[in-house]
Amino acid sequence: MIDDANRVESGQTLHADVCIVGAGAAGISLALQLAGTGRSVLLLESGSLAPDPATQALYEGEVADERLHSPLHRYRQRRFGGSTTIWGGRCAPFDPIDFEAREYLPGSGWPLGYADLVPYYERASELCEAGEFAYTVDAAFGPAVPPLIEGFHSDRVTTHTLERFSCPTDFGRRYGHRLRASANVRVLLEANCTELRTTEDGSHVASLAVRTLGGTRFSVVATHVVLAAGGLEVPRLLLASRRSHPGGIGNRRGLVGRYYMSHIAGTTGTLTLDRPVSHGYLVSPDGVYCRRRFALTPRTQRQLGIGNFIARLHHPRITDPRHQTGILSFLYLAKPFISYEYGKRLHGEEALSVASWLRHVRNVVADPFHTAAFLAHWTRRRILAERKFPSIIVRPRRPCFSLDFHSEQEPNPDSRVTLTDELDPLGVPRLRADWRYTRWDIETIEKGLRVLAEEFERTGTGRLDYDPATLERDSLRYGAYGGHHLGTARMGTSPADSVVDRDCRVHDVDNLFIASPAVFRTSSQANPALTIVALSLRLAEHLKALAASGRPAAATAASEEVLVHRA
Ligand SMILES: Cc1cc2nc3c(=O)[nH]c(=O)nc-3n(C[C@H](O)[C@H](O)[C@H](O)COP(=O)(O)OP(=O)(O)OC[C@H]3O[C@@H](n4cnc5c(N)ncnc54)[C@H](O)[C@@H]3O)c2cc1C
Repeated sequence: MIDDANRVESGQTLHADVCIVGAGAAGISLALQLAGTGRSVLLLESGSLAPDPATQALYEGEVADERLHSPLHRYRQRRFGGSTTIWGGRCAPFDPIDFEAREYLPGSGWPLGYADLVPYYERASELCEAGEFAYTVDAAFGPAVPPLIEGFHSDRVTTHTLERFSCPTDFGRRYGHRLRASANVRVLLEANCTELRTTEDGSHVASLAVRTLGGTRFSVVATHVVLAAGGLEVPRLLLASRRSHPGGIGNRRGLVGRYYMSHIAGTTGTLTLDRPVSHGYLVSPDGVYCRRRFALTPRTQRQLGIGNFIARLHHPRITDPRHQTGILSFLYLAKPFISYEYGKRLHGEEALSVASWLRHVRNVVADPFHTAAFLAHWTRRRILAERKFPSIIVRPRRPCFSLDFHSEQEPNPDSRVTLTDELDPLGVPRLRADWRYTRWDIETIEKGLRVLAEEFERTGTGRLDYDPATLERDSLRYGAYGGHHLGTARMGTSPADSVVDRDCRVHDVDNLFIASPAVFRTSSQANPALTIVALSLRLAEHLKALAASGRPAAATAASEEVLVHRA
């Protein structure tokens, strides 16, 4: 069932077997997996079904450097469905190397491996509506697919792995009806968890404080508590819950909020191809858009001591009218109508001078046929389609592309989020993000591109020109990439260097779990959502197993008891 938290009587205590905080991809996947199990599940969601500015403003905070990080209320959505209400839908699993301890990457080495996640990746791919778990060309299409670039054979760079695209699925809209119909799951909208209260020794979450913006306050007591409030809000809640630990829950060693990672993504260079290219999307037999990319092999990464790195064929930088492409100029001119999250890349350092505006207009006027054809395609395949065409694909007149790269960041304890002294209207301290990148992050991109350039030359398939001197600027033009908020409550075997264990349980707290990219130990080249969902599904199995074994002891009953609907 789905209820409004404002209807709960103030002062009450609700009871549940499992209380999940946050109904984004992580929280909804977990709740779906627990639906029908007979365990009472209470899913607390701050937002409502529709966006609400006052609720969204609860996300506001500070950033240390505005050039490197977007405002904190951007690139995440505080409403039912969370950021899947606006995400791009690109799905890719982590690679096996991402889970390994790499001696050249301090802090790497997950306490679980790729094989542990595969069964959950399969289900996660389904839930994301990205089709079957077939993320290589062979698995999805078999051998009869034309190569990405004819004659490009390399044992340093593979073009064999795929990204698959979700519709993109809004988890709230897509799965809300299942939760509404569930006998054992109760969703409470407009329910903000403002604090976790532990027992005096800090080893058990005794209750959760919940408030609405309408003034209702109540408590929740649950056998198991799962924080699924996103990669920034999870550390915020842990740090803000300071009754038993002055530094916050799970933070005895000062690790909560540290190791804040994203991805470094940018567009650079000119790749001039001498061989036929298969640019754009392939459609899998199950009807899913798929895309190939250039990926450094694990061996190459190890040899060079660098991170995971991929690059895609891309159109020239839209902001620069010298591309002479009507479609791109049209998009640039349309930027006031494009949302902040997607329009940000249309705000380049080439200021919109009258001269450049005129050049963009000239590009559109000179290319009316292609621009009109693009608009028709975009309306039909993107705006009106249920499964949306994922991105703009421009077929250049000459075989020239730029490269769009996406690369791993090293886990860095100095890149972190902390609390400020300012409180939001519900009394929760606001967050400050001090996201940082390192020399190693930039080296991964420099060396990754160099390998690509060498391989195009060696195979005689093309030439990659880029300016190493501007690479750092190109990589950081938009700062930390989009809504990828990773690592702020990292997973590990030891409490000395991590916040949660391999089952996503906060070390030293027997009933507190985290379902979030906050637990990512390293960042991979892959976008996070598929792995977030896979980890949530794995956590659901773990919670079921715990329930079957009867651990930990049921939470103590409070005086004013309101039982959450049981199956
Ligand atoms: C524009 C954009 C494009 C993206 N594109 C991609 C992509 O193509 N591929 C990809 O893999 N990833 C992409 N991402 C990232 C991806 O969407 C997120 O990583 C993922 O959705 C995060 O899911 P989550 O459940 O961990 O967190 P969220 O989606 O942030 O969900 C957290 C939920 O918790 C609720 N909440 C927060 N605080 C509280 C509280 N105190 N009490 C109760 N509820 C609370 C929020 O309202 C929200 O519903 C994109 C993100 C953005 C913004």
